[in-house]
Amino acid sequence: MLTAAEWAEARLGYVFRDPALLDAALTHRSASKRNYERLEFLGDSVLNFTTAELLYGAYPEADEGDLSRYRATLVSGNSLAAVAAALGLGDQLRLGSGELKTGGFRRGSILADALEALFGAVFLDGGIAAAREVIAKLFAGRLGQLPGAQELKDPKTRLQEHLQARGLPLPVYALEEVSGEPHDQRFVASCEVAALDARGRGEGSSRRRAEQEAAQQVLERMAADEVTAHD
Ligand code: MN
Repeated sequence: MLTAAEWAEARLGYVFRDPALLDAALTHRSASKRNYERLEFLGDSVLNFTTAELLYGAYPEADEGDLSRYRATLVSGNSLAAVAAALGLGDQLRLGSGELKTGGFRRGSILADALEALFGAVFLDGGIAAAREVIAKLFAGRLGQLPGAQELKDPKTRLQEHLQARGLPLPVYALEEVSGEPHDQRFVASCEVAALDARGRGEGSSRRRAEQEAAQQVLERMAADEVTAHD
């Protein structure tokens, strides 16, 4: 098996000057007081800053809403856990015996946190340029595969933008029904676009969710109408 230093060089493309930083980044709190938690705190910021910069350069046409949705996708727990798993980070983690037995090295949240800590450690060891290089290398594939900006927007936002682009008035949302116990309520909302004679109805555990579903229905009807109109 690779030593931690060999692993970092092979997988991150980075050689640590201070191996203690690398060791701390790979140590869970169940194993030692000198663990990755403080580095994770720092690395979270380094990752946010660096992905903002990478996205700013890669998507000159994207507005700030798209850029922040892209970043949220890149730095989500799932995304980080997948990057960490692909690096084989779990094999390098130092865990206490309890975490070892319960398979902590495979747990996504631990992998994601340790990856953030590694970015913090690279930053302390080699500065922001070194951290940027490592992050750019690890996220290059994901950066190129981001879903279209439209897919990341919620239905209400998409519907509003769609109508505005056609010069149509905004949809009207109404709360139709609230039922259930106070701690377990169900909401029914409607969304109406009078200009297009389109109406949707949605249900959910909050008013917002119900409205989003209603807007989604209207979008689907509009898409279906457009297909028919082009036939
Ligand atoms: Mn974290």
